[in-house]
Amino acid sequence: MAFSDLIGQDKLKERLSQEAKSPHVASYILSGPEGFGKKSFAEEFAMALICENPGDNGACGQCKCCKYMKEGTLPDVLRLVPAESGKQIKAEAVRDVIEDIIISPQFSSRKICLVDLDHMTETLQNLLLKPTEDPPKHVIFIMTTSAYPKVISTLRSRSVNLVLLPYSDAQIAEILSDRLEGVSSDKINEAVEFSAGNPGKAISLAQDPLFSDLKDDVMDLILAVPVVSYTNILTEKLGLFTDNKDRADDILILMVRALEDILKVKVAEKNVRPDIRYEADLPRIERFISQYPNVTASTIGRSVAAVEELRSALAVNANYEASCGACLLKIKKEFDK
Ligand SMILES: [Zn+2]
Repeated sequence: MAFSDLIGQDKLKERLSQEAKSPHVASYILSGPEGFGKKSFAEEFAMALICENPGDNGACGQCKCCKYMKEGTLPDVLRLVPAESGKQIKAEAVRDVIEDIIISPQFSSRKICLVDLDHMTETLQNLLLKPTEDPPKHVIFIMTTSAYPKVISTLRSRSVNLVLLPYSDAQIAEILSDRLEGVSSDKINEAVEFSAGNPGKAISLAQDPLFSDLKDDVMDLILAVPVVSYTNILTEKLGLFTDNKDRADDILILMVRALEDILKVKVAEKNVRPDIRYEADLPRIERFISQYPNVTASTIGRSVAAVEELRSALAVNANYEASCGACLLKIKKEFDK
């Protein structure tokens, strides 16, 4: 492994390889949203720090320390991570590590302590204050968090914060084809588009069979708007939003897409096949257009605006159900005109 084995984050890699050659501080915090690969970068940084011959690309991968680290048997790298996934780190584990770092390293010239701050209470973070302020010369802390502002301020102030930035679409596509086998290029493109620069999200979307269900459910909802009553919208139809509250962002994107596809079919010239995102939707959109001639390009445009209004409302934490209901009612009013 070397930094070049990790895709993206070029500036960060440059900085980490400089730091690995001569670290400026004893304590680093890598921060960025969940799914950005913070732990992979932290591991790679740790390896570059314990390596006997680190270069511009990080660890050499060949020396004794690199080999032991790859095998997972290097005692000079300590990890403060939950014993079970999703659980909190225990106080005892923190105390053990604090005792251990005082002892000189066995193989490398350094001892590295990797810390998952997201699974550590404030009280336990406090235990790290002394060791990070006045650590033995050979110790370096590499901490990771997806909630940097929640890390106790005293720990933040004595650490260098290195931020992971959103990935480009091309980088996410590269990560997906690297990690996933047998996933179609359509599926990859869709996952990239919905990932908002987050490779972790892209990977779970590409593997999520429910995602295409959600897409279909959203199209069903939009096409049903003129048929159903106002009451039904605020009860049954609202269920799509309440059942998938954690995926509200995806639903809004899918609503805009569904409306855009309907618009494309509406304005398509005769005998020209409209270029819509999901070919399979064409027959039912065509049926909808012929059944509801009152749905025009402007009513569709105003419906897209209603979805955008909903997005802004949710961004400022407006009441979720009320805002989603209001948006659907606006679309119904447009379609019923
Ligand atoms: Zn090495």
